Amino acid sequence: AIAVLGSANMDLVAYVPVAPRRGETMTGRDFRTVPGGKGTNQAIAAALAGGRVTMIGAVGDDAFGPRLRDALAGCSVDTAGLRTVPGPSGTAHIVVDDEGGNSIVVVPGANATVTALTPGDERRIAAAGALLLQLELPMAGVLAGAEAAGAHGVPTLLTPAPAVPLPDGLLARTDVLLPNEHEAAALTGHRDPHRAGRALLDAVPEVVITLGAAGSLYFARGAEPVTVPAAPVRAVDTTAAGDTFAGALAVARGEGRPMAAALAWATAAAALSVQHTGATSSMPARAEIDTAARR
Ligand code: ADP
Repeated sequence: AIAVLGSANMDLVAYVPVAPRRGETMTGRDFRTVPGGKGTNQAIAAALAGGRVTMIGAVGDDAFGPRLRDALAGCSVDTAGLRTVPGPSGTAHIVVDDEGGNSIVVVPGANATVTALTPGDERRIAAAGALLLQLELPMAGVLAGAEAAGAHGVPTLLTPAPAVPLPDGLLARTDVLLPNEHEAAALTGHRDPHRAGRALLDAVPEVVITLGAAGSLYFARGAEPVTVPAAPVRAVDTTAAGDTFAGALAVARGEGRPMAAALAWATAAAALSVQHTGATSSMPARAEIDTAARR
């Protein structure tokens, strides 16, 4: 199984012609609520890709809590490790303008309470074949997860997003680091992904830098970097492309596929996800990934 320790947010998306300025009130054209958050996105991506997935995190005791839980459970994600805590669920307040630009306020809500693991969380991580981590939970919670994984010999895949400085203890406990090119630059100070990747290998044994439509670059100690191209597709919404990639990669590695094959499969999954709108609503099922990966 794959364990995901991460965020659950309800995305509250308002569509407007032009984003409002301070003090301005305007009428939007449309509104949608969509379950999201990087943890939820990765859990659903991995489950749709065929993984057995257990989610660890927290939702609030508001109306969004059950909807977030149901969205995960509806994709066969085990939510026994998703606790309900007093107060609001995590929310992302998103304004999308007619040019497709967006501005986003994330209020962590219940996610902020995940600063330590329960004995049940630790058991779930110990029983998993891999642990997926991102940085939308408090750093103390992320570190506790990485430490539990390390103690039980469970490999960790960390998406270092949103970009924040990382404590050494976290990279020391990371097996595969999955930054996009901006996060790689923020972590290393190197804009060139080849330089950034080499620098990150000092701290982590394997690094995959995702490059949007250009695919990704894979670095492992003692080997030449490998370029993994993405299929040319018409992208309509790249939200959660990286989360789809991470979820599918964890599934493929968990099945024992060699890294080159696992990366090609995850790349096919991510390319499918950008051809549809939304985060979790755009993620492909296993059969679709298999078909795309054969082309
Ligand atoms: P993030 O979503 O975290 O910013 P990227 O934009 O680098 O990450 O995308 C992650 C992966 O999704 C890429 O490595 C690539 O495989 C795939 N992807 C993203 N954008 C496209 C695109 N326009 N066409 C095809 N594949 C894409």
